[in-house]
Amino acid sequence: MKNLSYKQIYEAYLDFFQRNGHTVIPSAPLVPENDPSVLFVNAGMFPLVPFLKGQEHPKGKRLVNIQRCIRTGDIEEVGNRYHCTAFIMLGNWSLNDYFKKEAINMTVEFFTKELGLDINNIYASVFEGDQDAPQDTESIEAWKEIFSKHGIDAKVGKGERIQPLGKKENWWGLESGGPCGPDSEIFYDTGKEKCGNDCNVSCNCGKYVEIGNNVFMEYQKDGDKITPLGRHNVDFGGGLERLTALLQNVDSVYDTDIYKPIMNKVKELSQIEDIKSQRVIVDHIKAATWIIMDGVTPSRTQQGYILRRLIRRAVRHGKKLGIENSFCKEIANIAIGQFKGIWEGLETEKENILKVIEEEEEKLITSAESLFSANSKDIRVRVEFSKNILAMVTSRKVGTLLIGLLMTSLNSSAVSKINSISAVDIYLIPNRCLVVNCAFSLMINQPIFFYTISLRFSQDSNPNLPPRGLHLLHQPYNQHSLD
Ligand SMILES: [Zn+2]
Repeated sequence: MKNLSYKQIYEAYLDFFQRNGHTVIPSAPLVPENDPSVLFVNAGMFPLVPFLKGQEHPKGKRLVNIQRCIRTGDIEEVGNRYHCTAFIMLGNWSLNDYFKKEAINMTVEFFTKELGLDINNIYASVFEGDQDAPQDTESIEAWKEIFSKHGIDAKVGKGERIQPLGKKENWWGLESGGPCGPDSEIFYDTGKEKCGNDCNVSCNCGKYVEIGNNVFMEYQKDGDKITPLGRHNVDFGGGLERLTALLQNVDSVYDTDIYKPIMNKVKELSQIEDIKSQRVIVDHIKAATWIIMDGVTPSRTQQGYILRRLIRRAVRHGKKLGIENSFCKEIANIAIGQFKGIWEGLETEKENILKVIEEEEEKLITSAESLFSANSKDIRVRVEFSKNILAMVTSRKVGTLLIGLLMTSLNSSAVSKINSISAVDIYLIPNRCLVVNCAFSLMINQPIFFYTISLRFSQDSNPNLPPRGLHLLHQPYNQHSLD
């Protein structure tokens, strides 16, 4: 296994596939140009769908690129060893050109010859077949032949060198339909002990790491119906971060040279050691710089909301780590330096990116925290409830609920002096999130303060929404709800 920097890895990748007849295409912007069905490009193939369906690509039938992607579906997982919301995907495609055998051979050659991975540690999974499509025997034969060339007698079956698996693992297609087909994943055995007798490539104990996946798009999905596409496309995808972690022999993607300089800065600023929070900051601020580069600004909806949420999560985790001052701009600056060699826009848009991040951090801090500091009464409120809140909020119960919330959050003498609630405004924002804005007056040591409170109730775990439960934030009167 060669000891390569992440830059050497993706350069070797682009170079190898160019030598094999592929043309480099640029990374598409993160915001899909003609598809409102997703907020962000989440895989390298996404911008290529029209060409997989048959439209002629101006750069030919063999393409390669590195694509920036954002996935926020499992944002809560960020902080473990591998999860990132923003990542780089190595991709290459055959648009109705070569197919399974050549694709698998090229992939293996790249991993073994260019990166120096040991063929003895390589394992594969293939589609086992079902009512929609037969077992992928063509891929099985291709794999057998490769292994046998290297003197490995590869068996097919559960826990074997070549493992057939079902649709859940070895089929790829968009939920909404379009080109789809079986895939064949490539795994690397890290040499760790098996976690049990049943340990195999589909186990996530860490023994086998997925390093790439060839999707063979030979079918078309319309509704529930799957029919032959009449074309044979290949879509290879591999995560640069994960591959780099493997080659650099480190335990997590955050320990690779991709993230190390950003991580070091976060650690230096932290008063408390908490690896999960530190990783969240690295990931979220890096993601924010990419998203702003592609023209998004923080807002209450769509991509802007995701951006706002990423920055705010980073700020909150910063507070958890005891970081006193504003820090996001400083981290963003390092993240930009780290990726500007790949995404040129980071350099040209640098000033704007830093400004947006800095302003968003300031907004959050002033709105949520410094409100009462002048009165030396710390009645900062952030109450989170998780049970049946929505049921309590119907109609007139809002007032009772508010008083109850304040009683638990403020000291009781203040609560007794709450004047009546003067305005209640309830509205539903899309995807089942209920917002209740209340204006009320509150008396603490004589002066009367006017506040609005924004309550949010979210019924599900939609990643694009605030977390489940109730969030109560003091806002100065007339200031618009920010969260
Ligand atoms: Zn295992």
